[in-house]
Amino acid sequence: MSRLVVVSNRVAPIHEGEATAGGLAAGVMDALRQSGGLWFGWSGRTLPQSVVPPDSLTPGSPPAVACSGPVTLYTTDLTQRDYDEYYKGFSNSTLWPTMHYQISLARFEHQDYLGYQRVNRHFAVSLAALLKEDDVIWVHDYHLMLLATALREIGVRNRIGFFLHVPFPASSVFSTIPVHAELGRGLATFDLIGFQTEGDQRAFSNYMREELQAETCPEGHLQLGHRVVRTGVYPIGVEADPLRAEAIRGRDDPAICDYKGRLDQRALIMSVERLDYSKGLRQRFSAFERFLVQCPEWRRQVEYLQIAPPSRSDVEAYQTIRRELEGEAGRINGRFAELDWTPLRYLNRSFPRDQLMPLYALAAVGLVTPLRDGMNLVAKEYVAAQDPEDPGVLILSQFAGAARELDGAVRVNPHDEAGMAYAMKIALQMPVAEKRDRHASMMRSLRTNSLDAWRDRFLFDLRLAEAGLSAAA
Ligand code: UDP
Repeated sequence: MSRLVVVSNRVAPIHEGEATAGGLAAGVMDALRQSGGLWFGWSGRTLPQSVVPPDSLTPGSPPAVACSGPVTLYTTDLTQRDYDEYYKGFSNSTLWPTMHYQISLARFEHQDYLGYQRVNRHFAVSLAALLKEDDVIWVHDYHLMLLATALREIGVRNRIGFFLHVPFPASSVFSTIPVHAELGRGLATFDLIGFQTEGDQRAFSNYMREELQAETCPEGHLQLGHRVVRTGVYPIGVEADPLRAEAIRGRDDPAICDYKGRLDQRALIMSVERLDYSKGLRQRFSAFERFLVQCPEWRRQVEYLQIAPPSRSDVEAYQTIRRELEGEAGRINGRFAELDWTPLRYLNRSFPRDQLMPLYALAAVGLVTPLRDGMNLVAKEYVAAQDPEDPGVLILSQFAGAARELDGAVRVNPHDEAGMAYAMKIALQMPVAEKRDRHASMMRSLRTNSLDAWRDRFLFDLRLAEAGLSAAA
């Protein structure tokens, strides 16, 4: 089998058996172990700009190498300017908000885009030196939309696939990015583009037809000039059984036992996500407040645990949402708390997976209400962690990619605060037979769309795709 080369912004610092490793990192790592391969990305380190000549393509040092069995991890440093322009600037202040429909938060600076192009080229040059002729290259996410273009420009002929973890927005939204056409043409240079949902795939096709005059070919491929681009839908999943096993193992963790004791029979409503404006936290806090107003019988009977580790803290929009949420959490607790009851427990730190899973299993309600999300793995993890005999209820935003599959969730519009408050009441009162039916149905879809299935289907299609397929071929 041809060797697999994975490229992503960051290479996961993963070691076998590491409890904190994310599911995605573990899934990609399994594929690399099976076929042997390498994973290339940013080390997470930034070098002072002074060590690099101003127009140099690379920071100067060769990638650092670490081996884990048949897998080699190559990491490259970025300069402070690369970080500011490529990562903090174009990736996270232009692309991330736009892909999540938050165009009022999107900022565009041409200088940042030049940095994005530069880092994509730097990745291409460093990677090309490591490639073998029949390697299959799998590129991940919005940081690297121009990587295939940069690789082709320096003569790389391997098959190159791209998986977009975030949503692809409506054409009218994507085209607000001043350089959208370059990005669209860049994406069309990949041999296969994978999306989380059919909605994302359709939005991409519409964009390519409306803005770049692409034509639709049979099997949903797109033709742009002489190029044919394959697209497919590969919803990312989780491995349900290991997550449930982790939830069971973690029941004896002293911190979990202690927390269960403190809950003292109160029903737990739980949410987990990076502190990000796309996750709908503000609307959710307001919905919880409404719930306490409209259902006074539930006061003292319920606790809402919000785990929200800060992310991208040097981007202004993230500082703003953090300040707002701190104010809101304090205000809600000030309004409703009693000497022996705090309704909202708001924690700004991350939890390892071996503690998250037993916490999910304790929670009567998993509250997952992003304004937009490519998939949302927390929703799937919550379902997987439940006891099938006495499962909790998932309340899920209709705008999370996971809502396409998780038909047993109580579905909500995250902009409708009254609707979310009502959903909390319904979920807390739901009879156990209905909870079991809903959970069983969601487990069926988790097993069909597992993490292994996601990866194997994408790689199967990529291995079938022809590199640089042209309409004339
Ligand atoms: N996560 C974690 N600890 C935390 C918060 C989140 O391990 O304190 C994990 C969570 O279990 C999930 C991932 O981070 O696997 C978040 O993925 P998701 O798709 O929900 O959101 P993203 O952060 O990719 O937007």
